[in-house]
Amino acid sequence: MVNNMSNNVVFHIDVNSAFLSWEASRRVTNGESDLREIPAVVGGNPKSRRGIVVAGSIPAKKHGIKTGEPMAMALQKCPGLVVVPADFDLYVRCSKAFKSICKEYTPAMESFSIDEVFLDMSGMDNIYPDLIATAYEIKNRIRDELGFTVNVGIGPNKLCAKMASDFEKPDKVHTLYPDEIESKMWPLPVGDLFTCGKSSAAKLVSHGIHTIGELAHTDIKELTALLGDKHGRHLLEFANGIDESIVTEEREDAKGYSAETTVDDDLDNIDSIKHMLLAQADVVSARLRADEAKCKCIGVTYRNLDFKTKSHQRSLLEPTDVTDIIYETACKLIDECWHGEPLRLIGLSLTDIDRDSFEQMSLIVDEKKERLKKLDTALDSIRTKFGNESVSRASVQNITQKINRKHKAESEIMK
Ligand SMILES: [Mg+2]
Repeated sequence: MVNNMSNNVVFHIDVNSAFLSWEASRRVTNGESDLREIPAVVGGNPKSRRGIVVAGSIPAKKHGIKTGEPMAMALQKCPGLVVVPADFDLYVRCSKAFKSICKEYTPAMESFSIDEVFLDMSGMDNIYPDLIATAYEIKNRIRDELGFTVNVGIGPNKLCAKMASDFEKPDKVHTLYPDEIESKMWPLPVGDLFTCGKSSAAKLVSHGIHTIGELAHTDIKELTALLGDKHGRHLLEFANGIDESIVTEEREDAKGYSAETTVDDDLDNIDSIKHMLLAQADVVSARLRADEAKCKCIGVTYRNLDFKTKSHQRSLLEPTDVTDIIYETACKLIDECWHGEPLRLIGLSLTDIDRDSFEQMSLIVDEKKERLKKLDTALDSIRTKFGNESVSRASVQNITQKINRKHKAESEIMK
């Protein structure tokens, strides 16, 4: 069989409200009530009303609650909202578990984020003669074996698969084949098109372009004048279902460890950005420690509303797996490279991975680093032990202070 463009098939598999579902499925296993059926979010402390919404249930979204918005605003929209703390080690475990099921079906899987993968199913007709049935099989296996649901989108390329997985949720399989673009994608609001940010959508709407179909029929010159050459061309292609990017397999351990967060609302204050970097530092450093690895290079990435992505990175003198060092370095990097423009995506990456070298002994024993390492070990074991009662770094400042005080008291006793 000739593997040409016409029989390319891509699946996009997306966990429904991932962090919330993962917490919910763990609670259900313990005989507790299901957070997916009530307005609930993962995020900051509801008592202090601080922090941001990291993930929300479908009933919470019906109250207008959005990822990335301040907790105080979410509680205003829904006063009875259930707020649960983040548990990053749980997310890493669930992410690995669902990706390993997905990986059984094709050698070409791209991890797009912690809860999304693309599978290249092109030319697999001999193994899976009915690809829709295979999509249902993957979806149902994840639901039945792991206790949480996904949507599967099927299309001739990544864009169509991604758009299809975003149709009705949860626990659904949708297709977006070329002959379905007109009926399924063109009626959608232009802001629903993947990579069409809020400001691009506002510009398009103010020019009378309300739907993806209207965008698809807009003159290229008009679009590039409105959105810039690159972004204008890019959105016109996407609106017509054209996407030539390929599913790229990446071995995480070869490439490094990274986390990215896309937000629904523009991100323009440094506290929220650093809060996300802290959450990401927590996720990636837990993965690093789980693999007994260390990184020698830390980078931050952000994407502004014009879809421009910028990265800034720094090499360390010594490899590390310490969350606070990673977080502090990320904060320095973002302070150096971000100039205050609104963002849609923020990411943290750890590269130059060191797997088996012993940590170099500094001539001067770094007491602070030793203390931070102890804190990480303590937090990792608290999480392993207590699961959902476990703590996210953002919420452990009290514990940290207690440990520090205890440490101080112990040092004083030693004297
Ligand atoms: Mg998802």
